[in-house]
This record gives sequence, C-alpha cells and structure tokens, in this order.
Amino acid sequence: MKKILFLILIIPVFAKAQNYTKIEEADKTRYVNTSFYEVKNYTKKTSKKQVVKNIIFLIGDGMGTSQVYSGIIANKGNSYIRTMPVSGFNKTNASDDLITDSAAGATAFSIGEKTYNGAIGLDSSGIAKKTILESAEEKGLSTGLVATCAITHATPASFIAHQPDRNMYEEIAADFLNTDVDIFIGGGRDHFNKRKDGRDLLLELENKGYEVVTTMDSLKFAKGNKVAGLIAPEHQAPIELGRGDMLKTASAFAIKNLKKNKDGFFLMIEGSQIDWGGHDNNVPYIVTEMLDFDQTIGEVLKFAANDGETLVVITADHETGGFAISGGDLNTGIVEGKFTTGNHTGVLVPVFAYGPQAELFSGIMENTDIYAKFMQLLELK
Ligand code: MG
Ligand code: ZN
Repeated sequence: MKKILFLILIIPVFAKAQNYTKIEEADKTRYVNTSFYEVKNYTKKTSKKQVVKNIIFLIGDGMGTSQVYSGIIANKGNSYIRTMPVSGFNKTNASDDLITDSAAGATAFSIGEKTYNGAIGLDSSGIAKKTILESAEEKGLSTGLVATCAITHATPASFIAHQPDRNMYEEIAADFLNTDVDIFIGGGRDHFNKRKDGRDLLLELENKGYEVVTTMDSLKFAKGNKVAGLIAPEHQAPIELGRGDMLKTASAFAIKNLKKNKDGFFLMIEGSQIDWGGHDNNVPYIVTEMLDFDQTIGEVLKFAANDGETLVVITADHETGGFAISGGDLNTGIVEGKFTTGNHTGVLVPVFAYGPQAELFSGIMENTDIYAKFMQLLELK
C-alpha cells in the first residue's frame, strides 16, 4: 500500500520534468515559420548582354545544401536563391586540412590560392597576396564589403587584410587604412577605436576621407562616396535577437553608391551568422539567418536584373554542423533538423550564379576557381 502511494505521488512530477526537457529540445531542433515573403522571379528579365561590369559576390558562411533548403521549406517552398538559373558546387578544402575554416575559405576566394586555416590574405607559405578587392581598386573599380558580423572577422577581413592569424583583429582593422575600399559596413568598431596601441582608426578613416557611420539610422544620411559603417562594437545581433533588415538595407546602400562608377564595382556581401547557427546546432538560428540572407539576395537580384551587366554569384566557404533535414512541412513552413558535429564539415557546398557569364559557374569547381573566373571576367591582374 505504501509503495503504490509513493508511485502516485512521484509520477506526475517525473512526467512534468520530461515535458520541460522536450520543449527545450524542440527549441533548437525545430523551426516554425510565421512570417512569409513573396518571391519575385527576376530570371526572365536578365539582359542578353554578356559583358560583366560589376560582380556581387554573396557568401553564406556555413551554408550547405541543407541550410539553403531549410530556407526554402520555411518560406513554403520558395525563395530567391531557388530562382538562380545556374548552379554548381565548390570544393572547400584548405591547403593543410580537408575541413577549412572561414579564413582559409575566404582567402581561397580573395587570392585564388588554398592556404592554411586561420590565414587572412596570405598564401600557404605565409606570403601576403593581393586580393581581388585590391586588384579591383587598382584598376579603378569601386569596391565594398558588407557583413552581419565584425568587419574584422575572417570572411570580410580576407578580402582586405593580410595577417597570419584571424584573431589579430586590431592588426586587421589597421589594414583597412592601407586600402582604398570605398564602402564597408559591419560590426567590429571596438577594434578601430578601443585599441591597445591607442590609435583612433575612426579618426584616421575620417582624415582619409571616409564618412564614419556608427548606426544604421545614420547610414540613411551618408552621402556615400567613401563610407566606413561600423554599426556595432563587436558583432551585430542575430536576427532572432533583433538585428532587423540591416543586411538588406546595407547591401542596397552599397549598391546604390558603388554603381555610380562607370568602370564597375566589386561587392562582397556575407550572411555571416548562418555559420553560427550551425555551430550552435540550432535550427531556428540557421533558418532565420538563411531567410535574412535570401531576402538580401532578392534585393541584389532586383538590381542585377535591371542593370544587365552585373554578375551575381552566391556560395559558401564551407558547411557547418553536418546539418540534415530530418522532418518538416512545406505547406506550413516547418523545418526539423539534426546535426553530426558542432564544427565545419568537408562536404561540397552549392554555387549559384545569375547574369552575364553565369554559365561559367556550373559543375564542380575548386573554391579558388571562383577567384580565377572573377579575375578573368573583370580583366584584373
Ligand atoms: Mg564568416
Ligand atoms: Zn564557423
């Protein structure tokens, strides 16, 4: 009799505890979308001209095919990336490792050579190589970088800086003063003005002719010739914590101003935090960042369709999380996922292209081939 009474008392408590555990698990393994957007198809409006005047290069950090498809499912089966007419894959390995990090991954795109993990704009023997952004500047094109993380973080940094270690944020920030990049917008302000060496790089940027902007609100009033947008002390917030449409707005701002150059422009836009959702094995984090990146792609395609001389290429530096889609619903925008790791993986990642010469980006290519094709198309050295 005593035993039965004990069981009656303990069962409800146990059952309740189990429910809480389930809810916690559900938070990271399942995403239920509640806000959907319409996708316009710009494909048919592409110009027949095959001249590449501008390149807009979008990097979804950590964006494998599951990440791409999670965004498509969440928006009930449609997305801007889905409308891209040409697709292929890129092989992401670093020089010393099958699994690349974001520094070696972005450096492969920026200098066209595979390098060691952690290297920023250096080849595998540690020698600084001119980046595509620097080559474009040299030829008189306008250039820009936009990211949802610190602008000194590995991906954007690799296009402009030359440092042996990605964690040398203050050295990377100082490298921005050694180039003529026209517009850069991201976080990382503390690396410019709260430095061990006491330099105030915001002041130095102003002296060099940059408008220094520290909030998205004030970006609206920037004239836009040369703009240093350092809108967060470190990284911007994730979408889930209120970043808003910063990536889309900053990208549109960059395009609006860079396009004034009749010789063309090179712009790199990074969806930085898709990767962080993967590291956190967090489905809602991945999907919300993916949807934000996709809506930025929509903004880019709107411009490219109208312009006709802009090549748009979207890819990733690597996949993160070994993310697999284990369930969901295309009719309601539900995505369920599982992971094999908290780190990067070595799988092929997708490449998408739109605009003149887009066909060059089909099949399986090396990450370094993307650099070679860009250099050839923009006639850079
Ligand atoms: Mg990155
Ligand atoms: Zn990562």
